[in-house]
Amino acid sequence: MRTETRILHTLPHDPLTGAVSVPIYQTSTFEQEAPGINKGFDYSRTNNPTRAAFEQLLAELEGGTQGIAFSSGLAAVDAVLKLLSSGDEIIAVDDIYGGTYRALHTIYNRLGITVKHVDTSDPANVLEAITEKTRLVWLETPTNPTLKISDIKAIASITKAAGALLLVDNTFCSPVAQHPLSLGADIVLHSITKYIAGHSDVIGGGIVVKDPELGQRIKYIQNATGAVLGPQDSWLAIRGVQTLSIRYERISTSAQRVAEFLEQHPDVGGVNYPGLRAHPGHLVARSQLSRSQQETIASHGKGAFGGVLSFWLKDDREENAVDLVGHVQLITLAESLGGPKSLLCVPSKMTHASVPRSARIAAGINDSLVRVSIGLEHPDDLIADLEQALAQVKESITEQAIA
Ligand SMILES: *Cc1c(COP(=O)(O)O)cnc(C)c1O
Repeated sequence: MRTETRILHTLPHDPLTGAVSVPIYQTSTFEQEAPGINKGFDYSRTNNPTRAAFEQLLAELEGGTQGIAFSSGLAAVDAVLKLLSSGDEIIAVDDIYGGTYRALHTIYNRLGITVKHVDTSDPANVLEAITEKTRLVWLETPTNPTLKISDIKAIASITKAAGALLLVDNTFCSPVAQHPLSLGADIVLHSITKYIAGHSDVIGGGIVVKDPELGQRIKYIQNATGAVLGPQDSWLAIRGVQTLSIRYERISTSAQRVAEFLEQHPDVGGVNYPGLRAHPGHLVARSQLSRSQQETIASHGKGAFGGVLSFWLKDDREENAVDLVGHVQLITLAESLGGPKSLLCVPSKMTHASVPRSARIAAGINDSLVRVSIGLEHPDDLIADLEQALAQVKESITEQAIA
């Protein structure tokens, strides 16, 4: 069965009433028949039936033995980092999500955990950096905002040989498109906030693991520290994920068209999108796609590489990017991604403002880079919006040159 079908048929209907939608168990505690004797639930921090249903669905979609749902993506990040002890080392992808970077460098480094950032798009860099102190390798593929691709299988064989765990933050691909556990990863992490809940109305996080013992350790940390997803938000996540496959399909098709439009535009300096043949990680990204996305490519030739892309201008000055996002009318200027409405941002002034310019440029984040999260609008409307905004930027550049 494909992921698309499993999303809809994993959770049973309510055995008590036949309700086809999972009930919201808005309760903190559960009656016990005798001390320590209960129906599998005793307190909602430890376990809650609505959250458990979402966790079961998440585990099923990623092909793991256990799913654990958190109050945010960063709460999930935090729980994984608490597996480590002082003196341990982490190897992390160099353009890691900003919030994960902040947790690693302002909190966990104080607790004695060292982080080495490497360009994981070449597995040889991981092999070179790994030591006997490395406990965890942290990947995002594609990355944010430059959409770099890493080879999960190749890196999994390196971490396995070194006795380290491999984590893949799979937020950008979603469980419809990429299954890191099947490629050798030990832990998959999601910001549920993005494609899974999918409607810009929930903050949530999730972890899925293959090894039940590792799952128990993370579950223990969650219960001991408390960052759980509430019953209402668990229900919203279940509701949202049911349309993930059609959202992903539409968003990917539109993103491919927008990327191809930008690629041939005379004022655009370059486009980062793994669906473009010119992208250096195109073939690896393609080989890592799930069975149903491979089939989409086989039948349509393209259209399976997700909704996030970034591009920069030929006249690569930050003020031109600021000018551009000021002229865009349909696409909302906001951080975040994965919702029904398209969003865009200027990483140098928003998500990556705290990164020094030299480090930013080294990571491929040009001054005029604009990141777009494609939503569910008609792609022609998105292209028209970008086209008129690019024309206005060109006009003001020409005016400045004359003046
Ligand atoms: C948003 C995001 C996170 C953090 O998730 P929150 O739900 O905002 O806490 C982690 N990783 C990636 C790749 C993200 O995009």
